[in-house]
Amino acid sequence: MRGYLKGILIGAGVFFVLLGLIFLLASFTPDFQLSILVIAVILFLIAGGFIGSVIYVEKRESARPVNIQQKVEIKATDLVGGDTRAQEMKCNGCGAPLSSKDIRITDLGVLVSCPYCGKAYVMEEAPKW
Ligand SMILES: [Zn+2]
Repeated sequence: MRGYLKGILIGAGVFFVLLGLIFLLASFTPDFQLSILVIAVILFLIAGGFIGSVIYVEKRESARPVNIQQKVEIKATDLVGGDTRAQEMKCNGCGAPLSSKDIRITDLGVLVSCPYCGKAYVMEEAPKW
């Protein structure tokens, strides 16, 4: 529950409790008057409604597990720790940049088929250091 909403509800509850007390005292002075006592009881019930709703929502919210969303973004550079340009694959025939769709992993190794020059070859794993 939001802080300001809770404050309003509790404030209203306290207001009705105080108002109810005034009516309760008024019903006995100077003479007992049932109609004023009834008003006092109604005011207490309204106050109870406000405060009760706060307690109800607070209980429900605390019972619900808090869902903490955490977004973790790992860049390729974080894992490799080097220059990303070095990891960029290029066709060894024409030097065109290759995307993942131009590369297939087969039994022979990494098969590259260049969409620019049409060259198809098995890529030799270049050392990363
Ligand atoms: Zn090529």
